[in-house]
Amino acid sequence: MNATILIIYTGGTIGMIQDPKTLSLKPFNLAHLLETIPELERFNFNIHSSSFDEPIDSSNATPELWSHLVSIIHDNYEKYDGFVILHGTDTMAYTASALSFALEGLSKPVVITGSQLPIGMLRTDGKENLISSIEIAATLPQIFAENRGEVCIYFDGFLFRGNRTIKSSTQHFEAFESPNFPALAEVGVDVKFDLDHFLQKRDEPFNAKKEFADAVGVLYLFPGITMDTVKATFSNPKNQVYIMCTFGSGNGPTDDEFLEFLEFQINRGKVILNITQCDRGAVDQGKYESSGAYKKIGIIGGLDMTFEAAITKAMFLLGQGFSSEELKYKLTEPICGELST
Ligand code: ASP
Repeated sequence: MNATILIIYTGGTIGMIQDPKTLSLKPFNLAHLLETIPELERFNFNIHSSSFDEPIDSSNATPELWSHLVSIIHDNYEKYDGFVILHGTDTMAYTASALSFALEGLSKPVVITGSQLPIGMLRTDGKENLISSIEIAATLPQIFAENRGEVCIYFDGFLFRGNRTIKSSTQHFEAFESPNFPALAEVGVDVKFDLDHFLQKRDEPFNAKKEFADAVGVLYLFPGITMDTVKATFSNPKNQVYIMCTFGSGNGPTDDEFLEFLEFQINRGKVILNITQCDRGAVDQGKYESSGAYKKIGIIGGLDMTFEAAITKAMFLLGQGFSSEELKYKLTEPICGELST
């Protein structure tokens, strides 16, 4: 049977047009986007589409956008074999990570893509990205006879696990990377899937969770950061989880004032998750004395999670109402392949 695919258009450069007066790019509608790709009719898949009422530049993305996408996939889950989401590149890795956590028990492919140049432009990368994404979303369910599926990003010849991906270039067509996990497929003359690296069969039934909470803060360390800056970061009483972006394998300052302040925050129920500022490699608390001190006061190590995965995972788990103790455990355990244990 021919695969049936739903394209969900959220906005992003792929569908943008240039404002003749200001010359800046602004989101445009799905009909325009699809008109520019008559090739879609040559697929022998059934392709349907759905669009946000007002397509956005993804730099305006919010947890509401993720919830909305979760709802669309939930409401159409039985009708489609796979989903392709057209999204701006700027926050694509955040949306991919958020959806990977929220679509529990997903057993169909969700492929997110976009482009660096609008689809109406001669040298656009959008056509190949969209056409290959559709092909991948339609092919995967035929390859996986069992319950396997995950949220991926397809861009410029590579299919990546969504929650392992980062946007690494504003310039190149090869705009995304998955620094700590192999590509799931490489698209050249043939589409070569690396089936062993896809998530294994899911035992749990599909359960779409729409709740995200925004009670998260970020402490980005740099040499010379003052205690005033550190204290200001923790000044919002509503925030419950803090992502602390550290140097190297999880290191940072260890002066008494800094450590005592963080320990005080942990004792009052705040959760601090240590994520490295490096793209590659992992946090290993205890490898050096400095990160050993963090471990001692109760900071938890985020291993090789990307910042995008860490923050959306925190927002997702907070949305499910977990206590600080539960959060400490759950943030360091993989939900769907976002970290290597
Ligand atoms: N600012 C755009 C967006 O994220 C960039 C893009 O799509 O590449 O929507």
